[in-house]
Amino acid sequence: MRFVDLVFGLEPRMRRMLRYWVATACLYGFFVLLMLLYSSKGLVSRDSLLPLAAYTISIVVASYALIRSSNRLGIAPTTLATLQGLLGIGCNIWGYSIAGPLRGATLMGLMVVVVFCTFALRPGQTLRLAVAGLAGLGATMWWHQAYDPLHYPPGVEAVTFAIMAACSLAVTFLTGEMSKLRARLKEQKAELEKALGTIRTLATVDELTGLANRRHMNEALGREQRRAPGGRPTCVALLDIDHFKRINDLHGHAAGDDVLRLFARTARSRLRGTDMLARWGGEEFLLMLPDTDPIDAAALLERMRADVAAIALPDIDPTLRITFSAGLATRRGGEALTDTVNRADKVLYQAKAAGRNRVVAA
Ligand code: GH3
Ligand code: MG
Ligand code: MG
Repeated sequence: MRFVDLVFGLEPRMRRMLRYWVATACLYGFFVLLMLLYSSKGLVSRDSLLPLAAYTISIVVASYALIRSSNRLGIAPTTLATLQGLLGIGCNIWGYSIAGPLRGATLMGLMVVVVFCTFALRPGQTLRLAVAGLAGLGATMWWHQAYDPLHYPPGVEAVTFAIMAACSLAVTFLTGEMSKLRARLKEQKAELEKALGTIRTLATVDELTGLANRRHMNEALGREQRRAPGGRPTCVALLDIDHFKRINDLHGHAAGDDVLRLFARTARSRLRGTDMLARWGGEEFLLMLPDTDPIDAAALLERMRADVAAIALPDIDPTLRITFSAGLATRRGGEALTDTVNRADKVLYQAKAAGRNRVVAA
């Protein structure tokens, strides 16, 4: 297994979550490096920075472990995002407390946390997270201005908080709108996929019998023709139910439809996975048998004839029996399969003329 697959897994959703994790890890890493650089200039005490650096690194490691084991532990993505969001907010507020005159810059991080969380949270959940962040920040600012007004002038803290609150809420609103847009797009995509499935079915399946329709069979004939020739030829047979008009005339169109459905189900039951039976028109069916010797094809049709003759129709007429005639043709060399079908059609007429209920091979 490749190293990347080992670290990120193979599941697309897991890989996406870990991509976001890489982005946040880079951001946290950059934050720690910058603070270390800042402390080397003596602007912030190393003693107060090191615990924050350790906390930040722990967040990165813990987030990876949580994401990677979320499936196994059954942690929902929303829980995961909320947890990571709160840890990130904690990191930002801590940074604000120790960053001295640069503390204003650390507030940008709070905004980033909110934006990241919109990928997994609903707009209401993101808003609650932003409010929790603002509450934590407000309390921290209040505490600093109350106990150290020299370094945290109350006026500056109040205005900074007001700007931060307004910006956070605006970003939350905008990202919420984007989430709604994404959800709508996802819904539309699902609807389109469903519609596409319906269209595909309508384009390929005969509604009455559930067999392939003529268009689908024509495509299959084209594919079969382009296929590299195997050891054995392709056979096609045209099957036509005998005196079907009489069934309609005597028992009604609905009974005729039932007969067509039963015929289709019975004829299909004998086929292999590579064979294909399509409704070619009214009560006429086309059978395609790839890699089949004509003798085997004729034997299959005889078995089908016996099966169809055995169909009982107690609800229509207990004495009614169905028979069909078939014309069978074997593809010659590189012959176009449509020509093979035409030859099968010709011999089907011979089968009808010879008295029906029989198979005639071309
Ligand atoms: P033959 O033995 O010569 O094939 O006689 P036939 O009566 O089967 O053939 P003909 O072509 O005269 O009649 C076919 C009938 O099939 C006419 C048409 O109304 C009927 N038919 C075609 N499609 C459907 C369908 O979807 N449902 C029903 N119930 N009947 C259909
Ligand atoms: Mg007929
Ligand atoms: Mg017919």
